[in-house]
Amino acid sequence: MAVGQTGVAGALAECRRRIAAAAERSGRDPAGITLVAVTKTVEPARILEAVEAGVREVGENRVREALAKQAELPDGLRWHLLGHLQTNKAARAAAAFDVVHSVDAERVAAALESRRPPDRPPLAVLLEVELTGLPGHTGYAPDDVAGAAKSVAAKGRLRLIGLMAMAPPGSAPEAARPAFRRLRRLRDEVQERTGLALPELSMGMTGDFEVAVEEGATMVRLGRAVFGERPLAG
Ligand SMILES: *Cc1c(COP(=O)(O)O)cnc(C)c1O
Repeated sequence: MAVGQTGVAGALAECRRRIAAAAERSGRDPAGITLVAVTKTVEPARILEAVEAGVREVGENRVREALAKQAELPDGLRWHLLGHLQTNKAARAAAAFDVVHSVDAERVAAALESRRPPDRPPLAVLLEVELTGLPGHTGYAPDDVAGAAKSVAAKGRLRLIGLMAMAPPGSAPEAARPAFRRLRRLRDEVQERTGLALPELSMGMTGDFEVAVEEGATMVRLGRAVFGERPLAG
């Protein structure tokens, strides 16, 4: 048996070590990178282990699943919505989450804007950009991001903080690098064109987060690296 932490705490320590090493390789401060623990399909008891090991940022793909878990977990966590949002779920999402990474259409932004509860601060949002070119993937086309950014930034109940993307699935970590680099360059370009500040780049998952950190990720979204393999979707 290895000496030291095991289970979720040990896996988290290893993720943090790898994030720090990737940051140092690219001359970045590891403190500028947020680990979002992706808890979809994970039981509240195991999420609590992560919370006890210092996790405060948790990511879910579905509104209903997040609401069920929020009832069982302590206050003080920041809930991130990562999955595609249908406008008919926007009311619940606007109340349940602190950050939405997956704004991918004007109608979604408008629904979140109109449904964010007045007693909460503006909802932090990122625009999802479609860089895989594969069917079934959602997100803005790169050419549409500047216009969307202006529109979202003009909404008083939303606070636009950056861009999110997924790399093409199933590829080796190094194969994800061009997509991450493209997202960072797009962010720089959109900032330049619009004058808006877009500090956050949400990119990198279990299979490719070190490459994402090297390319400028400020939020990495880690599920399996923290909690192990998920059951296959039924
Ligand atoms: C599931 C998911 C993740 C985490 O994936 P892992 O490979 O388990 O790290 C990150 N982002 C999104 C949008 C996801 O759906």
